Amino acid sequence: MTDIQPRNERINHIGNDGCHSAGLVTHQARWVVVDQHTILQNGYVVVQDGLIVEIGKGKKIRKDSVVDHGNGVILPGLVNAHTHLELCALKNRVKPENGFQSWVQELLAERASLEPENIQKESALGIEHLLSSGCIAAGDISTMGITKDFFMNSQLLGIWFQECLGNDLDTSLSCRKGPRQSISLAGHAPHTTSPEFLGKLKAITSKGKCPFSIHLAESREESIFIASGKGEWADFLTERGIDFSFWSIGNNRTPIQHADQIGLLDSNTIAVHVIQSNEKDFKILQEKGSSVCLCLRSNHTLHGELPDVPSMLKNRINLCLGTDSLASVDTLSIFDEMTCMANHFPEIPPADILAMATENGANALGLDGWAGTLVPGRIGSFIYLDLPADNVKQLMESIVHSASRSAIHRIAV
Ligand SMILES: [Zn+2]
Repeated sequence: MTDIQPRNERINHIGNDGCHSAGLVTHQARWVVVDQHTILQNGYVVVQDGLIVEIGKGKKIRKDSVVDHGNGVILPGLVNAHTHLELCALKNRVKPENGFQSWVQELLAERASLEPENIQKESALGIEHLLSSGCIAAGDISTMGITKDFFMNSQLLGIWFQECLGNDLDTSLSCRKGPRQSISLAGHAPHTTSPEFLGKLKAITSKGKCPFSIHLAESREESIFIASGKGEWADFLTERGIDFSFWSIGNNRTPIQHADQIGLLDSNTIAVHVIQSNEKDFKILQEKGSSVCLCLRSNHTLHGELPDVPSMLKNRINLCLGTDSLASVDTLSIFDEMTCMANHFPEIPPADILAMATENGANALGLDGWAGTLVPGRIGSFIYLDLPADNVKQLMESIVHSASRSAIHRIAV
């Protein structure tokens, strides 16, 4: 069974899914984080009909219902821009510590052995896990298609991505953009999917004005394969009967350069992981306006390596956070990702880390008009964290490090 544990800090979902959904409701707390740069002391957020209608400071004296949440902080709901709900059932069934390639093989075998009902049940628990850990939006990647209804019928905003891989060109694929939830397409990765197929997927999502997601530059095996067309990954594909002889690889390019070459990178693309990359790659990502979704805990577990986050920040790339799946991490909590980021990169300001967990993720998922910051017109769904703080600096440090005091935080450094 998936282990869903409450955090030590009290996380309340507030807003249109709570008990104060009708009419005008004012939520106040000692701190309100509007966005990474705007933190109000003794702030309030007024919600009406599911939308934020006013933000301000001071005690609100009016006729509508006022809820004083206490000494902690109201902040935007978190965004998990990359997860795989259909892999929740694989928690503790595969061993990421044995290395990436072995993990992939084990994952495929285990997934094939599971009953669909079990996968669905654990996926539904995964959505509860996301919501209970302060997440209001997600990008769910599904190869099997099995989580679509759960996701679309949930309270989560964001995108359900149908993930494709191999050489097939499925002509029935499509995407659908909605204001709060969209259906889109993801290419698995450049070392598992033909350039022709990836180009086709990207073209469909571009036509539908939907974000496109792809794992990029994740492993050394991938980099060697893309640069040379050879190596362990080439042998692995050959063993599985996948013909890559016609793929345009082996030109000494990095995965990012390859993705750019075949037209995958623009402002509607989310490149996930981006570990095996250099300064030239970062310039390409910045010029194309692509987002990068960082999944540090998964990277650490599967590869023992982390992406060069400071250089990506210097290149002003839109960085967001994802957890990847319970097949490679212990929790789907973005608080845990923030803490991992803060521990590994103490030079990165907490405000930047919070932006990755909120506004930047919302931008990457095309939710920038709805979520990510607390401003009038956006969805009236946010979180309260019972984290007392004496000043803004202490508050921001507490937010990004809060998971370290949680019983569910287990990162092996
Ligand atoms: Zn992934």
